[in-house]
Parts: sequence; structure tokens; C-alpha cells
Amino acid sequence: MKKNSSEANFAALESLVKQVLVKVGENPKRDGLKETPRRVAKAYQELLSGYTKDEKSVIKLFDSNGFHELVTVGNIEFYSLCEHHMLPFFGRVHIGYVPNGKVLGLSKFARIVEIYSRRLQTQENLTKQIFELISKGVSPKGLIVQVEAKHLCVSMRGIKNNGFITKTVLKKGLLKSRRDLLSQFYKDIEKIN
Ligand SMILES: [Zn+2]
Repeated sequence: MKKNSSEANFAALESLVKQVLVKVGENPKRDGLKETPRRVAKAYQELLSGYTKDEKSVIKLFDSNGFHELVTVGNIEFYSLCEHHMLPFFGRVHIGYVPNGKVLGLSKFARIVEIYSRRLQTQENLTKQIFELISKGVSPKGLIVQVEAKHLCVSMRGIKNNGFITKTVLKKGLLKSRRDLLSQFYKDIEKIN
């Protein structure tokens, strides 16, 4: 993105936020709100920065050196905005995979989660995108991606049951066919918790 167009974007976003304030019955000129459009525009830029990042560039593989056991990366925290209400949903991602000759650096999993979660999302799609990128990029013998999240569009909008947590899981290969690996994965993430 060119510097100018991004500056123009920012100014446009700022003025739209000002309009929202007016439309909901606020006075954007009052003291507490003067800086709000700028702050909201900045927050959106940060919370939706995943659009400017290329998730494929994160995939850099190393030789697994004969390691063919389950690798569990649990408790990756994420914060996203739902595409239906643009309200936050947040929680944790747990990933387990059995390498097939190649492994991905551990910090890269958190990076993948961050890039995808900083876009407008649904939990189902977030789970699927993480799953597919690792599936294609790492070609593991088995893979599981589990996402647990709380959605503020559910909690804040008068729908009862505030402790509501949504779970989504995708799995394939050995993590689907071998119960011992699956239960090892759940034991691992329990320990991490
Ligand atoms: Zn929503």
C-alpha cells in the first residue's frame, strides 16, 4: 500500500467513525470524544492488520531429524472480530500434528493464528484456514486444530448464558484414525492449561 493511499484511508475511516458517533446520538465534539475517531481508526488498523500480511510467507520448514511423534502447540491466545457484528471473539487455539519429515518452527504457529485472527472472521473459518495452511504447507501425517472462543456478540446482546464457549475442531490423518494420538493430544493440552 502506498503511503498516501494509506493516509487517505485512515482519514476516511476517521471521518466514518465520527459519523457513527453522530448517528448513534452522540456529540463528537464533546471533550471525551474528540480524539475517539482517531483512536478507533487506529484500533481498527491494528485489529485488522492481518489483511496486509501474507500467511504463506510464514511457512518455513525444517528437517524433522527422524522425529515422527505428536507435536502439540497449545494455548495460542487470539483476539479476532466477528464478520457478522464486528465485535470481538477471543480464546485459544490448540494445534497438534505428526510430522512427515518436516517440521515448522514453533513460533510460526502463533504467527499463523495472529495473521488470520486479525481479519474479520467466523470461528469456523478461522479454524479451517489455520488447518488448511498447515495441512498444505507442512503436509503432516496427522493434524488437529481446535479453537475455543467466547463471542462478545453473543455475551453482550442479551442472549443468556454468559459463560458460553464455542468449540470447533478439524482433524485428519493419524489424528483422526488413531485414538491413542488423539487422547495424547487432549492430555497434552490439559497439561498446558
Ligand atoms: Zn457476531
